Amino acid sequence: MSAGAVAPVELAVADAAAVLDTAREVVLLAHVDPDADALGSALALGIALHRRGARVQVAFASPERVPESLAPLDALGLLVPPAEVNPAPQVLVSCDAADPGRLGSLGGLLDTAGRTVMLDHHATNPGFGDVRVLDPRAEATVVLAHRVLVAMGVPLDAEVARCLYAGLVTDTRGFRTAGPGAHRLAAELVEAGAEPAALTRALMDSHPFAWFEGLCAALERAVLEPSGLLYTTIPLADVRRYRSEEIDSVVDVLRTAVEAEVVASVMQVGERRWRVSLRSAGRVDVAAVAAALGGGGHRMAAGFTREGTEQEVLAAIRAALPA
Ligand code: 5GP
Ligand code: MN
Repeated sequence: MSAGAVAPVELAVADAAAVLDTAREVVLLAHVDPDADALGSALALGIALHRRGARVQVAFASPERVPESLAPLDALGLLVPPAEVNPAPQVLVSCDAADPGRLGSLGGLLDTAGRTVMLDHHATNPGFGDVRVLDPRAEATVVLAHRVLVAMGVPLDAEVARCLYAGLVTDTRGFRTAGPGAHRLAAELVEAGAEPAALTRALMDSHPFAWFEGLCAALERAVLEPSGLLYTTIPLADVRRYRSEEIDSVVDVLRTAVEAEVVASVMQVGERRWRVSLRSAGRVDVAAVAAALGGGGHRMAAGFTREGTEQEVLAAIRAALPA
């Protein structure tokens, strides 16, 4: 790039800010099974836009209820159920969704909205929406949401800062993968009122005691194969019994096994339907593995959902791993 040239992502940030600056009616979507990065991005932008007088709705297609640990991020009550979402908003913002399919049943709004803005940091994102703020170097989508807020000249307040910090601390797994820019942003967010101890406790470090039984069972079922694949399966009964916070945390325990090259948490979400979380120790690009199986994600953390029997899903994972 020649000296003085503006990176395409910076142009997209400016375009996104221009679209949102004049928007009177905005729907912001997080991906299905929303995490703190998806919902934090949507709510941070939503709160800022609401305070500027826009009519704002924040939504995700499924599940029905917001994960308990994320509910406090919705300080202004902007979340609405999918059925109440404006079917043809002036502006639609997609947050942290690696492809339109990740918006679930709300993906159709990409076609009915007046303008669409996409914010994401997944390398597997094919690009969609009128304005595409897509930066795989960003540690989290909240980093991009923050850039848009800066471009709009919005000052950070405690509620917005809390949403941004939530996405930043979780997507970097407690700043393990954060670069200098993300650390600087964290300092800014704490100065603006985000409370690290309270947020990390609620988002990453709390489970009901009853979960220990489910975790024990999941670890007892874990298998380490000679290829370096370490997996466990979580049956439908347990997926239904425990909160998503508990079920999603299993993969973080599995990944601590030093022998594992790739870990897979294989969660039964329907009789013949499986949601799989993949994590890499570094050598294997699990985004490529997940993409081959119909999903996507990042090099070190990815996922997919697939139909079949448990053995079929496991066989598909083995077949998709590099030799
Ligand atoms: P997790 O395992 O925590 O659900 O997801 C890990 C990463 O992979 C996240 O960045 C998430 O957005 C992405 N991911 C998970 N499932 C899917 C999927 O089905 N499709 C795509 N494109 N990305 C996914
Ligand atoms: Mn993310």
